[in-house]
Amino acid sequence: MSDCLFCKIRDGLIPARVVYRDDTCLAFEDINPQAPTHLLFIPLKHIATVNDITSEDREAVGHLFTAAAKVAQQRGHADSGYRVVMNTQRDAGQTVFHIHLHMLAGRPLLWPPG
Ligand code: 5GP
Ligand code: ZN
Repeated sequence: MSDCLFCKIRDGLIPARVVYRDDTCLAFEDINPQAPTHLLFIPLKHIATVNDITSEDREAVGHLFTAAAKVAQQRGHADSGYRVVMNTQRDAGQTVFHIHLHMLAGRPLLWPPG
């Protein structure tokens, strides 16, 4: 039994507001949103960090971006803009060790993020 929070969300063991799913990825609302739209896109396969992505995962990981772009388009963020970001390890603030592409939108986003 996986102890991973996002595997549990994937398996329906922990509730989440799912906004998109297909055969390789799942997207749901972040529980602590940092922008009017703050979604997390995860591969269905458990991958702990960006460091653990292998060449076998290329399609699934690349697909996180096409899924995020599709949802951004549907929600009207494609032209105004949005941010996709994946935090890796401690200094980047990674707290859940199942890779997830944050998608933030709906307000002007500062850069650098801090
Ligand atoms: P990280 O800091 O690892 O890049 O991002 C983890 C994200 O997961 C955070 O933005 C946090 O708010 C979100 N998160 C943590 N626990 C839960 C949860 O139980 N449900 C949902 N939907 N998001 C969560
Ligand atoms: Zn996991």
